[in-house]
Amino acid sequence: MSLICHLHQLEEGPVALEAKISAAELELEDFDELVRLAAPVDCRVEVQLLDDGILAKGTVTIPLVCECSRCLKAFDCDVVLRDWACLLPLEGEERVQIHGDAVDLTPYVREDTVLALPQHPLCRPDCQGLLFTGLEKVKQVGSAPRMESNSSVWAELNKLNLEK
Ligand SMILES: [Zn+2]
Repeated sequence: MSLICHLHQLEEGPVALEAKISAAELELEDFDELVRLAAPVDCRVEVQLLDDGILAKGTVTIPLVCECSRCLKAFDCDVVLRDWACLLPLEGEERVQIHGDAVDLTPYVREDTVLALPQHPLCRPDCQGLLFTGLEKVKQVGSAPRMESNSSVWAELNKLNLEK
């Protein structure tokens, strides 16, 4: 579902909005092979009308499942934007698009969700990766494509281990 506010409601005062926005709606399904949404992004915001814009603020919770960039282990890592806020101008070049009297806040949630995704996810800060498993040798000997196929096999194995 999208995060949409209606101007006629805002004219009467601040409006509380809640929405769960899926990876598909945020166009994040294939965004990063190491970081995926484990569940829809949960938005709980209050929206109010200012003189020349709309102010939305609240909490955006981003449930993620990441793959460690060193050891390929899958792990949960939720990002919570507690003081999320965005100001949408109603005038000028940057003004927000209005359809009827509806303003879609989803693109703004997407923007900040993308910024909040971990760049190099680590299962723990001191993860030693695959250094001690013998795979390091394979890495040195094997060609790049072969290493890639090894990587995905290990990722699958790690997922299986986690499910036990
Ligand atoms: Zn790791």
